[in-house]
Amino acid sequence: MRKKHCEICSKDFDTMYRVQYKQPKAWVFLCESCLLKVKKDNPLYKYGGTWKR
Ligand SMILES: [Zn+2]
Repeated sequence: MRKKHCEICSKDFDTMYRVQYKQPKAWVFLCESCLLKVKKDNPLYKYGGTWKR
């Protein structure tokens, strides 16, 4: 079974969010709580889809 780990908190979740949020721009996977933290007032934030196990 495939697993992805959150870029920030390094935990794995059943649902991950594919986003760009920093320079250099790269797609990373975040959990929902980290996503909500980085998207706030972030001009670099870009949503690329939801990944479900
Ligand atoms: Zn996280």
